[in-house]
Amino acid sequence: MKRIEIIQNVLAANDSIAAQNQRLLDSHNVFAINIMSSPGAGKTSLILQTLSKLNKRLSIAVVEGDIASTLDAEKVKNEAFAVVQITTRYMSENCSLIANMISRAIQNLPLDDIDLLIIENVGNLICPSEFILGEHKRIVISSLPEGDDKPIKYPMIFAGADAVVINKIDLLPYVDFDVPSFQNTIINLNPTVKFFQVSCKTGIGIENWCSYLLNEMIPMPTKS
Ligand code: MG
Repeated sequence: MKRIEIIQNVLAANDSIAAQNQRLLDSHNVFAINIMSSPGAGKTSLILQTLSKLNKRLSIAVVEGDIASTLDAEKVKNEAFAVVQITTRYMSENCSLIANMISRAIQNLPLDDIDLLIIENVGNLICPSEFILGEHKRIVISSLPEGDDKPIKYPMIFAGADAVVINKIDLLPYVDFDVPSFQNTIINLNPTVKFFQVSCKTGIGIENWCSYLLNEMIPMPTKS
């Protein structure tokens, strides 16, 4: 019983810092998304595709969460307006970003000059589902080689997603991945979720994904 109370307190504290983060982002008209997936599903690849499609129209900053390396931050730094690396290896919570890490990161960004903040979470389907960060949309990527059973095994992250991006769709002829059954499992958990089928390798579906982001951002004036 004691242990459960402590965990609830940690989550309540996180939620209140996340709400502060969102107020700060809103006051500067910054739209933020939190991208979550297992390792290798394509978080960094989707960010790179999004940067290449939208960085002429929008000023985009990226927060890179990783347990140990700066590899992903290196990959996105040329295309992004700003990159903040958060390495979680020695932190008490190391399998997910948490709201106070984002609080520190956004205090170091020129928020008035940023339209879109993309947060790449630490790669796994468990811990990131528990922590909101102050983002406006929670995005989960699943890729075909992972198999279509992930929403059955890790329902929480899919239940809390605003959108699910199915990546590596170009591999459909080569793998056993039942897209309708995968989507139906998620719809049963989360009836309002949106789906995007993309290949970050070939660029299929990236246009739709980027239109979704732009539509969601519409109330926010973009900077010229
Ligand atoms: Mg990555």
